[in-house]
Amino acid sequence: MDEDLDIKIGLEVHVQLTALKTKLFCKCSANYRGMPPNTLTCPVCLGHPGALPVLNKKAVEYAIMVALALNSSISPQMLFFRKNYFYVDLPKNFQISQYDKAGGVPLSVGGWVEFSVNGEKKRVRIRRIQLEEDPARLVYPGTITTAPYTLVDFNRAGVALLEIVTEPDIKTPEEAYFFLQKLRSILEHLGVSSENMQGSMRCDANISIKGGARVEIKNISSFKDVYRALQYEIIRQKQQLKHGIATVQETRHWDEDRQITVSLRVKETESDYRYFPEPDLVPVRISEEWIKKIAAQMPELPDARKERFISEYKITEYDATVLTSNKKLADFFEECCKLYPNPKKLANWIMGDLLRNLNETGLDVTQLAITVEQFVDLLKMIDEGIISAKIAKRILREAVRTGKPPRKIVEDEGLLKIDDEEFIAKIVDEVFREFPKAVEDAKKDRRAVNFLVGQVMRKTRGRADPNITNKMILSRLEGK
Ligand SMILES: [Zn+2]
Repeated sequence: MDEDLDIKIGLEVHVQLTALKTKLFCKCSANYRGMPPNTLTCPVCLGHPGALPVLNKKAVEYAIMVALALNSSISPQMLFFRKNYFYVDLPKNFQISQYDKAGGVPLSVGGWVEFSVNGEKKRVRIRRIQLEEDPARLVYPGTITTAPYTLVDFNRAGVALLEIVTEPDIKTPEEAYFFLQKLRSILEHLGVSSENMQGSMRCDANISIKGGARVEIKNISSFKDVYRALQYEIIRQKQQLKHGIATVQETRHWDEDRQITVSLRVKETESDYRYFPEPDLVPVRISEEWIKKIAAQMPELPDARKERFISEYKITEYDATVLTSNKKLADFFEECCKLYPNPKKLANWIMGDLLRNLNETGLDVTQLAITVEQFVDLLKMIDEGIISAKIAKRILREAVRTGKPPRKIVEDEGLLKIDDEEFIAKIVDEVFREFPKAVEDAKKDRRAVNFLVGQVMRKTRGRADPNITNKMILSRLEGK
């Protein structure tokens, strides 16, 4: 991206505390995914008159854990405010949230997240972290801009949401992507948000270039889409700049289907909302003792795990960074290490072929069909000389896509390595007959030998033992 454009990107990340069983202010189940619409509700989360919210203490503890992990300063007292606005996703016409003005304090202020972008360390500052309730879920038949009507599902209303707001320290879509990846890994390691929950992390992105007005892109639901939306928005704003059109302050929507941002409304300012203290909830005192107790119970975080991977498994810093970028991936690696004595080889296979296959299929490591045992078994088959590394790559590809155990694939498809010298000799004969020119070349130039080896491999679909094949071809060239 162009340096001189002075791109400023800030993110507001909304994280559902999916590890909580219940909603933020009532005992309704927070596990609404896949449930019939409007079945997980009560007078509190539906906002019926007279219903009183009761704060979920565990949610506050989780929020404190996140604040500690992000180096944020926790406020000694937590207050809730009513953020008043009229919209179909809000049953009460207000959202119980926190407010950093008019005497309000968020759960925590300041802090930072450190991550690497192409090997370079980058730090993004955190502005504040606050706890609030999720609004209901709106379902649009078709797209948000074309739907003739909107459906409302209140199952999500009241689910505990952590809002993490960054300073506008991000300069490129790529940095935003790596920031989010690191943040997710931290949240997963803390155990407050489960892995790969579609939509459990949603993002608003603020972006301005060269001092132009700030444009907000609302409700982006995947990291890849954050990347794409920012990329689109930078190009759009750059074009405007070029043609002397002022960027207006507005809220835009990321249209996943069309891969563009569209204007939703000219940005409301904070005065469009009315905030006032929530009278039904008493302030929560957050004592030093409570914080200390929570800090003592904190699980291992990605950075610490990375350092441990380097010292315990003797892998490179780069490998350790990639492996800990995703908790499930790090778990997969560690489980494999228990069953297989060569961590470096494991890291290579996981980061190379396994991740490549995941990328190709669009699967997350959580949806991986191959088990730790099967993956290790594949490497063992190479070590035992049963299959070649080349065949192993093919088997892995199939195992990831079908869930079929590698050993079964080897059996079913007759992929065992051929070390039968008589058989290989026959194939070598064939190749020598078919490529006399290459044989002459190989006698003078040893580099041409590879071509002959390659032909044997092609005829055996990569199954011929490369060592035997090589030796046999060389000795035939020498006339033995
Ligand atoms: Zn409820």
